[in-house]
Amino acid sequence: MQGVADFDQIVAQTIGAGDWRLLINGDWCESASGATFPVENPATGQILAHVPDAGTSETTAAIEAAYAALPAWSAMPANGRAEILRKVAALMLERRDYLATLMTLEQGKPLSEARGEITYAASFLTWFAGEAERIYGQIVPASVANKRILVLRQAVGVAVMITPWNFPAAMLTRKLGPALAAGCTAICKPAEQTPLSAIALGKLFMEAGLPDGVLNILTCQDPVPFSETIFADDRVRKISFTGSTEVGKLLIAKSAAGVKRLSLELGGNAPFIVFEDADLPAAVRGAVISKFRNAGQTCVCANRIFVQRAIYEQFADLFTQEVRQLNVGNGLLPHVHVGPLIDLPARQKVERHISDALAQGAQIRLGGSAAELVGTSTFWQPTVLSSAKADMLVAREETFGPVAPLIAFDDEDEVLHAANATQYGLAAYFFTRDLSRVFRVAERLEYGIIGVNDGLPSVAQAPFGGVKQSGLGREGGSVGIDEYLEIKYLSLGI
Ligand code: NAD
Repeated sequence: MQGVADFDQIVAQTIGAGDWRLLINGDWCESASGATFPVENPATGQILAHVPDAGTSETTAAIEAAYAALPAWSAMPANGRAEILRKVAALMLERRDYLATLMTLEQGKPLSEARGEITYAASFLTWFAGEAERIYGQIVPASVANKRILVLRQAVGVAVMITPWNFPAAMLTRKLGPALAAGCTAICKPAEQTPLSAIALGKLFMEAGLPDGVLNILTCQDPVPFSETIFADDRVRKISFTGSTEVGKLLIAKSAAGVKRLSLELGGNAPFIVFEDADLPAAVRGAVISKFRNAGQTCVCANRIFVQRAIYEQFADLFTQEVRQLNVGNGLLPHVHVGPLIDLPARQKVERHISDALAQGAQIRLGGSAAELVGTSTFWQPTVLSSAKADMLVAREETFGPVAPLIAFDDEDEVLHAANATQYGLAAYFFTRDLSRVFRVAERLEYGIIGVNDGLPSVAQAPFGGVKQSGLGREGGSVGIDEYLEIKYLSLGI
């Protein structure tokens, strides 16, 4: 096992390789007041770096820069914009180990997952480089002989991206890829817990030749002054947000005054349904990856695992055996599958959900308590709860931790009713070998993403997003670029 000295060396090499400043109009700069805030390693509590704390004046400067850069960037031929996106993707893959180590240091996820995220994040740039070249218009038949109607699709304008800490690179490129491809200029505000990955990506965009002002990056300890400034400024035409439903609702309210376009990727409460005719080992593997990836801190992770009664015990045994193999620890260590939770409030939520479930009759099959490891107190043992019920907190709220509640059900109608009985509608999963059931169940699940015999459905070419209170709009796929395009038509008398 690696010792602390090795960690210190990794930190020194990785953090020392960076220069953690704001990006405004092509300049890497400090905040006007010189204020900074610390970025901590959630596995060790160590302060990794201090980043500038941007407020109102820096936000205004970024808006000015993005607005000034807009005419030239949106007028650049699509293949020019695409070429830059492809260059950044290539640089990301070339520097994958550095970017992944940086991500593990500030976010905690295992290094293998961080590498996977860099590849996934780069795929959005490659995908949208292609989509930039396919921003087609239309010619529509007119109703009189002396008119022609042409439909154009043009960049919305200055776009703001607000991203969460759980996927520090992919949530950024899933927005930046389509925005830059469409011809928008951008201002990114990464989560305060994980700003380093965003800054490191910004360096690659500049290295690839992105013109000054097209991408601006602001790190803010308090998002409110930033948010007030962008909503008050008419030059900002679009806000794309990924984060909690609570903040998403706040942004909807704030956007009313300036009628700004919004895309929202919000929270989830994914049901994972295992029918009695499922391929059981495949269902177990799917449930483990869906539940425990990123220590259960993904918006699409299985939150409630419904298992048909006839196979409940068999599934619970196999699943528990698999989960027992997962090692918890510092994500930099080889063979670690589950890293720390992001912070203490995240651990407290996990504790609250487990104690509520136990008080209502659930039983612990595995885990159930903190993992006592060197470092912070946010490591949690992968936990399996049986005899869980749909009305327990662990099944009603997004746990965002490595806790798997197993709930028994009897028939399809009952489980569909329970699966849909939530305000959320992001991802749902089910495992079955019955083709008729595949269509019946998929069509009745009120979710934007359905994994059918698949625990890991996210890819750049598919339209990712939720229904109900899980969000508005789609990211990725052939429709992802529409979020950054306005439609205009020309009625032409000839
Ligand atoms: P969060 O809502 O607390 O923060 C997300 C971002 O919003 C951060 O950058 C934060 O600084 C910013 N923010 C917070 N308050 C703000 C305000 N008043 N104005 C402007 N910006 C503000 O969420 P989080 O804890 O960072 O992320 C976890 C949540 O994100 C979970 O609910 C998860 O399900 C969701 N999520 C959704 C998706 C998706 O694609 N649907 C993907 C990842 C995460």
